[in-house]
Amino acid sequence: MCGIVAYLGKKEAYPILIKGLERLEYRGYDSAGVALFNNGNLNLYKKQGKVANLVEFAKDKDTSGSLGIAHTRWATHGEPNDRNAHPHFSGNESIAIIHNGIIENYDVLKEELKKRGYVFKSDTDTEVLVHLIEDIQKSEGVKLSEAVRMALMNVTGAYAICVISKDDPNTLVAARKSSPLVVGIGRENDFYLASDATPIIEYTNKVVYLDDEEIAVVNLEKGLKIYSLQDEEKTPYVQELEMQLEALEKGGYEHFMLKEIHEQPRSINDCFRGRLNSVEGWVELGGIKEFEKKFTKAKRIVMVACGTSWHACLVGEYLFEDLARINVEVEYASEFRYRNPIIEEGDIVIAVSQSGETADTLAALELAKSKGAIILGICNVVGSSISRITHAGSYTHAGPEIGVASTKAFTAQVTVLTLMALSIAKKKGTISESKFRTMLAELEAIPAKVSEVLKTNDLIEKISAQYKDASNALYLGRGSSFPVALEGALKLKEISYIHAEGYPAAEMKHGPIALIDDEMPVFVVATEGPSYEKVVSNIQEVKARKGKIIAVVTEGDTQVREMADSVIEIPATDEHLVPLLATIPFQLLSYHIAVMRGCNVDQPRNLAKSVTVE
Ligand code: GLU
Repeated sequence: MCGIVAYLGKKEAYPILIKGLERLEYRGYDSAGVALFNNGNLNLYKKQGKVANLVEFAKDKDTSGSLGIAHTRWATHGEPNDRNAHPHFSGNESIAIIHNGIIENYDVLKEELKKRGYVFKSDTDTEVLVHLIEDIQKSEGVKLSEAVRMALMNVTGAYAICVISKDDPNTLVAARKSSPLVVGIGRENDFYLASDATPIIEYTNKVVYLDDEEIAVVNLEKGLKIYSLQDEEKTPYVQELEMQLEALEKGGYEHFMLKEIHEQPRSINDCFRGRLNSVEGWVELGGIKEFEKKFTKAKRIVMVACGTSWHACLVGEYLFEDLARINVEVEYASEFRYRNPIIEEGDIVIAVSQSGETADTLAALELAKSKGAIILGICNVVGSSISRITHAGSYTHAGPEIGVASTKAFTAQVTVLTLMALSIAKKKGTISESKFRTMLAELEAIPAKVSEVLKTNDLIEKISAQYKDASNALYLGRGSSFPVALEGALKLKEISYIHAEGYPAAEMKHGPIALIDDEMPVFVVATEGPSYEKVVSNIQEVKARKGKIIAVVTEGDTQVREMADSVIEIPATDEHLVPLLATIPFQLLSYHIAVMRGCNVDQPRNLAKSVTVE
């Protein structure tokens, strides 16, 4: 969380930084700020709230300069107010810093620095670091990059930082540990630094992803140099990105979330393109090919993830257990890492994360790796930390997801898990040839069926209008539609602030049924499949207590239609693939309800995407 962006070159930095902050705003929007070097001065402007507040505040100020750093914050230490907004100045105001992460030993350092006369102007952990850099510079008489390196040797925690000094306006110093940082190498001897490539792509596709404990020193004369924390020079590994600028724009939609929901026919297709062929009857995930044998021998797969990705893993559990007959455990990454988990030889740990930067998931992976597990990743963001620390993995290829509430990333994760389960099932011989081919053909048909589901948008908007004022909602499903219920409830909670719970339909009678009255909307996945009749009974139970039923059913269904207050039809498909279709109406529903309630759909309160703090 927190977005950082910096520029050094010949162009005016301010517009580049502001545009960059807007692209990174999904990472946090508690406050925004910028520090610019101009005419021997560092001008610092920062404001609570969104980037737009900062722009308004700075509109009649001096924003010129070709060296600058900027930040959009998701507060961890200190209230979200002007004072705690980044950048932060050092005591003599000659150095400015922006930071993403947490300095864990900040209180010890703060006490020491206070004793040495430093006055703190904010409650953040970050400010400690900038005073420390100034203190080292003064006492050791070293240049900025060396002072930053020495300061970092004294801190524990996570950071991506950019530091500038008015005494060295040709230099920008950056470093990372556990929080992401990318350096873009511009075409005009200029440099762009950011938390991800989205602020950079407009200017250059040549980027260097910093590794943990690396320091980047960017200098107008000497170019980009990379050093380890131990001061050994490293050769930068320059990559060429393929990201398209249009992918970062709203493309005519009112919100990124709506655009991303509608992109799903394409994103699911991109996810399996080149990885399966139903006519020839094969599936291949290049990224994990060399681990297939280990997969076929594995007695257990542990999936670790957080939030929506955790729900995708639950769908994966059904797929792997049923198709490939491998025992799967799905773990919250944050719990897994703190309870001394049992990892046995041959266990495979799969981490699922849209950003590939989720701090808890990364830590869980590191733990599993240290215990000898094979660790694999399923991420969307190319070059992300998870993709780099895992033995192998598969990208979801969903394209940039900007809306904070995940939509297309979820369906892409489920698609990759389906491909994985199918390829392992085939290798193990736990799936018949005919079932295998049918499933491949069904998967190929999913994008067109998602397009069909998207046509229910107007109906869903009407349904949304009926339930927009609800204060509670229940989501029910069975089998792999249970995770769909969890995901539906999470979407509603996170963007429309309506309390919602997801339950396995049969569990309802063990408690939640007590909540049902004539005001309670109950959203049910009641599609064709082995548990259809059971779900129908659960619907009856809700009806008997006057609850309102909104059911997602298979096209042509008549039985549920008679009982439900509203039905949303989805095309028939293989029961294992239902989550890819059934989740779409719930995404649209929460979107419309949130819009009707006047909520900020793309940037829900208190949340941020890419959770790089634990
Ligand atoms: N710890 C810093 C602050 O609260 C940065 C937060 C973050 O990166 O999420 O200001």
